[in-house]
Amino acid sequence: MAIHYRTKGFIFKKIDFREADRIFTIFTKDFGKLKILGRAIRKIKSKLRGGMELFYLTNIEFIQGKTYKTLTDASLIEGFPNLRKNLKRLKIAYEISEILDDLIKGEEKDEKIWDLLKETFQRLNSFSLSIKECWLTYYCFLWNFLLILGYQPELNFCSICQKKLIPKNLYFSPKEGGVICSNCFNKVKDGKKIDPDVIKILRLILKKEMSFLEKLKIERTHQKVIKDISGNYLSFVKEGQF
Ligand SMILES: [Zn+2]
Repeated sequence: MAIHYRTKGFIFKKIDFREADRIFTIFTKDFGKLKILGRAIRKIKSKLRGGMELFYLTNIEFIQGKTYKTLTDASLIEGFPNLRKNLKRLKIAYEISEILDDLIKGEEKDEKIWDLLKETFQRLNSFSLSIKECWLTYYCFLWNFLLILGYQPELNFCSICQKKLIPKNLYFSPKEGGVICSNCFNKVKDGKKIDPDVIKILRLILKKEMSFLEKLKIERTHQKVIKDISGNYLSFVKEGQF
């Protein structure tokens, strides 16, 4: 008889497959990222349907078949209704799902990623969440996820000459792995000018100082730089240039 594996997981992707099947990508507590086949799950009578929506936290049970892991049972734990009611929050959930899909390669348990996802989804589901908190939740997820994967950017010392950074004329270079000083910038000519205040905000984001960040006034220009730097750094990691 086949072994039935039980765990819980965040469903972050679903693709229709064959006539009535669907393949789910799930980040599970005990096995990491898994692709699991829901057989005949698109049929109205399927008893598995209820617990298997996008961005649900669900108890799942599956068996390992020859080609696929097949879902044998599913029951909803948390549906995050407030996340679903708001387009901004949903957009963040989709971006997170893209990042998970692109950057997690193997099936490996990771409690830190699990905790970060739980924290992030709970926050996205809070009753009231300002646009700024929404925004911070995303960057907090992104940078801490990169940190867990081993892509922590250097924010205290020059990534090239290793000298302690003086808060003046600094640049951010994904290729060099973080902030660089103006001396080194003049040599490598790679990087984007970064205000020392933005570096401070990034440090707070990496420390998940959310309550402090929520109170902090973050200028629009700084928000824009954080958006650009985060996007550049993420693309760089995705392209596997590390
Ligand atoms: Zn330097």
